[in-house]
Amino acid sequence: MSASLDIVSHHSLTFGQKLIPFQLTFRPKIRLSISVLPNRQVMVAAPEGQALEKILALVKKRAGWIAKKRNYFEQFHPLPDEKRFISGETHLYLGRQYRLKLQDSEARGVKLVGKYFQISVKEVDREKVKATLDAWYMKRAEKLFIDKVDWFLKSQPSLRLTPKKITIRRMTKRWGSCTKAGSILLNIDLIKAPLHCIEYVIAHELCHLRIHDHSPAFYRLLSRLMPDWEKRKSRLDGFVL
Ligand SMILES: [Zn+2]
Repeated sequence: MSASLDIVSHHSLTFGQKLIPFQLTFRPKIRLSISVLPNRQVMVAAPEGQALEKILALVKKRAGWIAKKRNYFEQFHPLPDEKRFISGETHLYLGRQYRLKLQDSEARGVKLVGKYFQISVKEVDREKVKATLDAWYMKRAEKLFIDKVDWFLKSQPSLRLTPKKITIRRMTKRWGSCTKAGSILLNIDLIKAPLHCIEYVIAHELCHLRIHDHSPAFYRLLSRLMPDWEKRKSRLDGFVL
C-alpha cells in the first residue's frame, strides 16, 4: 500500500448574504464531488490538476444546494452548553428565559418563581447547580414529552404509530431520532424550546415510525399529523440554546 498525501486548502464562496467556507482536497482520477458534513463543514474533492477557477465556478453552481444542506444540519445543532450557572444568568424553559437565583440550603431543588429559577443546593458551586437544574429539566421533559407522544397517538388512532421505547438524553447533533426498530430518542435540551417546536420534533419522529426516510410520502404524513409543521420547524431552526 502506498501512502499519498492529500493537499488540503481552504476557500469560501458567497451565497446571498452568507459566506460558505469549504475545504478543498485534490485527488488523482476522481470527479469533482461536494459533500456537507453534519457539522456543516463543506468538503470538496477535485481531480488533481483542475484549475481553481473552474472548481470555484462548479462549487458556486451548487451553492443553493450547499446552503440548503447546511441549513438542514443546523436545525439539529443545538449549541454547546457554556453556561456558568451563576446567579442572574438566564436559562431557558419552554422558549422562555428565566434568571438563576441561587441559594445555599440543606434541601436541594428547583422552583420556578416568576421569572426566576430558584435553585437550592448545599454549598453552591457550578457542578451542583448544573446537576440540580439538569435533573429538573429531565423530570419536566419526561412528563411533557411522554404526554405529547400520547396526545399525538390518541389524536390519530388510525395510524397505529406506537414507539417501542422513548428515550430522553442529551444529544449534541440532533433534536430527535427514530431507529428502524421503532425507538424514539429525544434530546433533553428540547425542553428549552417553545412548546410548538417540541411538538414538531415529536410529530416528525413519530412519522418516522411509519416512513424512515424524508421522502415526499413522509412529508405528506407529517402534514396530515401537523399541517403547520413548516412554521414550527423554521422557528426551531432559528432557536439558539
Ligand atoms: Zn427525520
